[in-house]
This record gives sequence, C-alpha cells and structure tokens, in this order.
Amino acid sequence: MSTICAISTPLAEGGISVIRISGEGALAVAEKVFKPFTCESVGAMQGYTCAYGQIHDGDKTVDDGVLTVFRAPHSYTGEDVCEISCHGGIYVTKKVLRLCLKNGCDPAQAGEFTKRALINGKLSLTQAEAVMDTISAEGEYALASANLTRKGSLFGRISKISNDLVKLLGELAAWVDYPEEDLPAVEENALRKSLEDALAVTGRLLRDYDNGMLIRSGIDTVIAGKPNVGKSTLMNLLLGYDRSIVTDVAGTTRDVIEESAKLGELVFRLSDTAGIRDTEDTVEKVGVELAHKRLEECMFVIEVFDTSRKPDEDDIALLEKVKSLDKRCLIVLNKSDLESAVGEEFFREYSENIVCISAKNQDDRMMIQEAVEKIFSPENYDASSTIFANERQKHCAEKAHEHLNAALDSLNMGETLDAVTVMIDYAANALLELTGEKATEAVVSEVFSKFCVGK
Ligand code: GDP
Repeated sequence: MSTICAISTPLAEGGISVIRISGEGALAVAEKVFKPFTCESVGAMQGYTCAYGQIHDGDKTVDDGVLTVFRAPHSYTGEDVCEISCHGGIYVTKKVLRLCLKNGCDPAQAGEFTKRALINGKLSLTQAEAVMDTISAEGEYALASANLTRKGSLFGRISKISNDLVKLLGELAAWVDYPEEDLPAVEENALRKSLEDALAVTGRLLRDYDNGMLIRSGIDTVIAGKPNVGKSTLMNLLLGYDRSIVTDVAGTTRDVIEESAKLGELVFRLSDTAGIRDTEDTVEKVGVELAHKRLEECMFVIEVFDTSRKPDEDDIALLEKVKSLDKRCLIVLNKSDLESAVGEEFFREYSENIVCISAKNQDDRMMIQEAVEKIFSPENYDASSTIFANERQKHCAEKAHEHLNAALDSLNMGETLDAVTVMIDYAANALLELTGEKATEAVVSEVFSKFCVGK
C-alpha cells in the first residue's frame, strides 16, 4: 500500500497545523523533510516519541516544528505514522504538505487513514463510523454515545451474536451434511434457545435505536394534561415565544402542535396535545384520540396539572395512564402563583420527578430545565446501552432480526433443519455486514465517502 499524507487539522489560520503521513515509507519521507534537534535521527526514534526540529526542503528552511512517530502496528492506521506539527498558517501548512508529496507520498483520500485502520484490523466498521460521530458530536450526549461505540461496545455485542450463530451453523452443517458420521444431533430446544437469545439482543438494540435518535434529533415529548391546566402556556415558556393559542376556554388546543425546544444540552421535540378527557365534541374527540396515541408512542411525557384546583378524575386518569405506560415523565404542578388546592405529596406515588411552577413566569423555565437534566443526565440515561449510529447499522440489524424470527418460525412449524439453517445463515450475514466483517467494498466506500480528508 502506498504512503499517504494529508493535512489533518482544519485549513485555517491557527496556532499549529498537523500533517499526517501513514504507510511503509512514512519514516523515510519524514527523514527527508525533518531534521530533529533533540535526537540523532528520525530513523532512531521509537514509537510514541516526538522530537523538536526543522522542516526543510533541501537546504531551504520551511519552518520549525515537532515530529511525532508511531511505529506499526501501534498507530491509528496500524502502519508507521509520522505527524508533523508546524505553525498554523495556511501557506506554510500547504508547503509542508507539498514537501511530503514531493518526497514520495500520495495524497490521502477522504477517510483514508481510518479506512486503513479498518483494513489493518485496528477498528471495526461500526467503530470507524463512531470516529465520524465523535468529530461531528455537538453535545455531551452525542459525544458520550460516539465514545462508547468507538470503544467497541456495539461491535462486541453484535459479534457475540454473529459468532454464536456461525458456531451454530457449523454444527447444523456438519449434522445435515454427514448424517452417517454419527455426530450428536442438534438438539431442537437448544437451537430454539439460541435463536431466542439472539432475537432478544437484536430486539433490544433495535428498541434502543430510539435512544440514539433521542441524542441526535431530540427527545420526542408530549405535553399532556386536561384542558386549561396551562399546557400551551408551558409550551410557549419552553419555546420562548407564543406559538400555541392560549385562551381560557377549555379545549382550545385541538391540533397536535410540534416544535423543538432546547433546554441546556437537550433538545425536545414537543407536542402540545388536546387533553385526554372524555368529550362529546366530535372535533375535540379526534384530538383526544390522537393525544392517547401520542402518549403511547412518545419517549417522554410532561404531565401538567393546575394546582389551584383539586385533581379530578381526568387528572387521575392521566396520572394512571402514564404510570401504566412506564415512561420517563415529569409532573408539572402549574399555576403556583395561585392559591394551592392540592399538595405535592398527592403526586408522589406517580413519579418522583415533580416541579412546581407558574408557566406564566419566565424565570421558572430554569426549574424545568434542571428537572429534565436530572431525568436525562448521563447517569440516568443508560449510557451502557449501545445504540446504532445510523440507518445503515439499523437496517442490517432489522434484516438479522427478521431472518432470526423466520428461523424460529420454521423451527416451530417443524420444517426441515435445512430451511432453518438458510435463515440463520442470512441473519449471520446481516450481522457480519453490520460490523463490517463481511461488508462489500461498496458499503465500505459509502461509509468513508462521508469522512473528511486527513481523518
Ligand atoms: P391548556 O388548555 O392546557 O393549553 O391551557 P392554556 O395554556 O391555554 O392556559 C389556560 C389558562 O390558564 C389561560 O388563561 C392561561 O393564561 C392560564 N394560565 C396558564 N398558566 C398559568 C399560571 O401559571 N398561572 C396562572 N395564574 N394562570 C395560568
């Protein structure tokens, strides 16, 4: 493989720039363009060491800087890697790059360093994708999730199932192909158990994909409560402007309104719904049904109550409903500026997350922010739950899940082991494609096309 180089820092004026070289000839190229002052020669440098010195083009000085050496296989790409840090001017950076090209390097393509890491077994495809996610992470949660995948937790979980399936396939194949060999029969119950175990993991990972979307596109949130408790007012408080129609006629918010609000690090996709009370009004009835559906689908519920009135059966119906759905929720006791008709204790059996506010008071927004930050804090958010980073990974897991289900169905319907084997084979292949162990060149190229040059 050729020796490649690229500028790995953004091409803009700054303190320093890094030009990265990777490949068999990396040290030879560095030797030609860099003269160390702090050690004998580039060739004598151990891995994980650096030297201060001069970057030169023949007898012309280009800049002074630092050379860091990583020796194969202990480098990002698994090859010999040299990184030249020079002053962060655009002209000087380009000049150092040209110097490396002139002395034997090829220009690196987008993502080529990471692609080499994949080829050299330093990273799985999911870890390589996580490198990109780390670079593009815009908040604490996205970064934590990318770091987790980069450390290989998704790869570990998927390979465990694919390895088990491959082992199972081996046993099945031996038994089907060599019946005369008197091999132990694959026990049907054990096979069923293996399939069920694998299905449990893929099913869990697919469900957790929602958590991934939570990190990337916001938490799907419903603001629920009976009419007139202040849902629209609360929505406006969270959004920071008047979006919902606020009137004091019960039942005015008939449509589901969706907006995004950022509270601290977290983004919430809010829908303000009609109350869930029983109603005879046909138009309102549609809204109420929709509200029920949204409650079931959403990821987080903000339940709003008017504390200036005693809770009635509609309030209790909502509390019971959300409790039965076992969702993450926040109970907002609104209208704290009015005389209270009910204490906070009443609500405690439904959730420990309770805030007492007046949605009309701008300052109370902070109390909501603190409450949701507690609910979705990295400790409470299941950071150990590995998630898919993108649709490619999810699609592979879905395929595997479908084939595993089909294999289990075939087994339960008493079909031949041949038929079951084919389905398990498809499932295993889908998982190997997910981790990149069996991904086609086209899939790999598609993944790396999204990378930047120099990574
Ligand atoms: P929704 O039907 O649940 O969306 O309720 P709205 O947001 O339309 O509010 C119903 C009425 O309660 C309006 O007149 C609001 O001005 C009023 N309201 C909302 N929040 C508060 C509050 O914190 N204090 C008081 N005193 N009134 C409020």
